[in-house]
Amino acid sequence: MISVRDLTKRFGDTTVLDAIDLDIADGERVVIIGPSGTGKSTLLRCLNFLDRPEAGRIEIGDVRVDAARASKRDILALRRATAFVFQNYALFANKTAKENIMEALVTVQGHPRSDAERRALEVLGQTGLADKAESYPAALSGGQQQRVGIGRAMAIGADLMLFDEPTSALDPEWVGEVLDLMRQVAEQRQTMLIVTHEMQFAREIADRVLFMEGGRIVEEGPPDALLDAPQDERLRRFLRRVA
Ligand code: ATP
Ligand code: MG
Repeated sequence: MISVRDLTKRFGDTTVLDAIDLDIADGERVVIIGPSGTGKSTLLRCLNFLDRPEAGRIEIGDVRVDAARASKRDILALRRATAFVFQNYALFANKTAKENIMEALVTVQGHPRSDAERRALEVLGQTGLADKAESYPAALSGGQQQRVGIGRAMAIGADLMLFDEPTSALDPEWVGEVLDLMRQVAEQRQTMLIVTHEMQFAREIADRVLFMEGGRIVEEGPPDALLDAPQDERLRRFLRRVA
């Protein structure tokens, strides 16, 4: 169970997250949509303190953190409970696919290298990249790089997987294989919070869709209800634009 209360983030005078409340059930797949600059990435980044929120409470599994007084230990605990998939993959260029997956297992999760290596090879098998274990990112297609990025998140076995527009930097030809891998992750009842502009994918994968604007969750509901019968005028306007 994930529970977020009053999560607030400011950059200078601008309030980017305005006291966000959000509950996510175990195994739930939640998709966030909304216009550019509305705080979607910031919300994901605040959940594991890639951005530091000014206030709010975050509960992920057994981990409870009060943002205003989070210690280093709290932040590490949150990082262990979450796994992040970035738009630009964020792989280490000087590490192989296997080493990229091992990295967090060793440094954040504290596993011995031999265990981390076994786990990395297992995950590479699941992502269809067994033969790319020793390849460096530059030798992989965009789709393969992002599958390594997702594999890295899978390997951690985190309570919550966060995806920030995982397909939007990809050439169109690679989008399908990345969405397929995300479907595979979803089938394992992994709790997922996904920012995406792929509306068809959102419809298919989401248990619930959140529409964010101006640092708030303006409307939420099951995908068909939210996308086919939007109530808020701002959501209607947004959907007309992306449709
Ligand atoms: P997009 O759809 O374009 O990715 P988003 O909804 O993810 O947008 P955020 O990246 O969360 O939006 O940004 C929300 C607001 O916070 C924007 O106005 C942005 O300019 C501002 N912002 C984000 N990061 C920083 C930062 N490090 N310093 C200052 N302002 C920031
Ligand atoms: Mg963003």
